[in-house]
Amino acid sequence: MNQDRQGPELVPSADVLVVGLGLAGACVSWTAIQAGLSVCVADPGSEADSASRVAGGVLDLVSGQKLTPAWRGMEFFRAARSLYQAWQAQLGVEFYREAPILRSFASSDQAALWQTRAQDFERAGIRVRPVGPGELPMGLRAEHGAAWSEPGAWIQTERLLDAWRTELERRGAWVAQTVAPADLGWEGGLWHWRGGSFRHLVLCTGAALAAWPGLEAQPWGRTAGEVLDLELGGLAGEHVAKRKFQLIPMGAGRFRWGGTYRNRPSDCQPSASGRAQLEAGLSDLLAGCEAGPGDRVPELRAHRAAYRGNLRDHLPLVGRLPSQEGRTAWVLGALGSKGALWAPRCAELLLEQLQGQGDLSELHGLLGCRLTRQVADG
Ligand SMILES: Cc1cc2nc3c(=O)[nH]c(=O)nc-3n(C[C@H](O)[C@H](O)[C@H](O)COP(=O)(O)OP(=O)(O)OC[C@H]3O[C@@H](n4cnc5c(N)ncnc54)[C@H](O)[C@@H]3O)c2cc1C
Repeated sequence: MNQDRQGPELVPSADVLVVGLGLAGACVSWTAIQAGLSVCVADPGSEADSASRVAGGVLDLVSGQKLTPAWRGMEFFRAARSLYQAWQAQLGVEFYREAPILRSFASSDQAALWQTRAQDFERAGIRVRPVGPGELPMGLRAEHGAAWSEPGAWIQTERLLDAWRTELERRGAWVAQTVAPADLGWEGGLWHWRGGSFRHLVLCTGAALAAWPGLEAQPWGRTAGEVLDLELGGLAGEHVAKRKFQLIPMGAGRFRWGGTYRNRPSDCQPSASGRAQLEAGLSDLLAGCEAGPGDRVPELRAHRAAYRGNLRDHLPLVGRLPSQEGRTAWVLGALGSKGALWAPRCAELLLEQLQGQGDLSELHGLLGCRLTRQVADG
């Protein structure tokens, strides 16, 4: 589609209008096409950083500093693996890698906590083992011990999004535009936008969902996260390594390091304090390297920041919005810090429901239940 970003030109009709091309919109549009539906995906595609472009893209079934097994981790992991593998094969672009995740404990308390989680990990299907002497890859620091966990994987989110956007463009299914709620019409059981008609509308606008009419009342929270993109010559990049933050291999000696968490942020610009936090964490991780951090001065390529959109219960938001005058719209968002892990399975469930086949109540506590509760509370 030949889009002039300024103009109010017509867009083609499709079964599904997907608003937003982050991980959520990408997974929804891919899954819809696999189900035989036509799509139109709209995103301003500006240079601004979105969560998906800044993301580490790590699929880790052990969560945060509390080291708890991720909610429905194996179910989400299996769905994500199969979707990403099929997707990269079809696109001919490699963006998914699977390898055990290395965790270097930052304190003896964390190492002890890891031991107490053994049964939880086993119940959740997570395999863990200590990193043996001399086995520490990359010579990273591990004075309190280190452990492997699997399954683990990471996706290069920008590579995926760029490849998918190119494919959508080739199919004439991409519109470089913002969709304003006021520009959407509803008539004859169809959505209308810029001359195109759509049977379904799926909102995937990330942290911006909080301002979408009908979603403002949800218990939104958001955090700002910062990352550094670096070149680290001589460091082998075959695993994601964690210690306070994550070091993610991006290929050709490039790594992403992050991300920080800033609660109740008023903005999400890269900040001096965020950078200082990340640089201190990186020297701490590299302090064990044989060559020493002095010999391995990281070259900074970029310092970036984005909002993570989440709900206060840290569960994804997936389902149908309450009907307003017969209009039905769908939403996938609130992916917090788990978008790479959650988006594929959530997209599948959303598409099943949208086609009248599935049951979203399977994802307990998600949008349907939340809104029902809200209406009942009245
Ligand atoms: C620093 C950082 C590190 C992270 N690391 C990881 C990680 O290692 N693993 C992991 O699983 N997750 C990670 N995450 C979280 C993950 O990035 C998010 O959960 C996920 O990217 C959210 O995807 P999304 O599509 O919902 O939102 P977004 O990526 O924000 O995408 C929303 C899109 O909607 C578009 N949009 C907004 N409004 C409109 C509109 N009105 N019309 C059209 N388009 C619109 C935007 O331009 C944007 O492209 C990280 C996040 C951050 C910030």
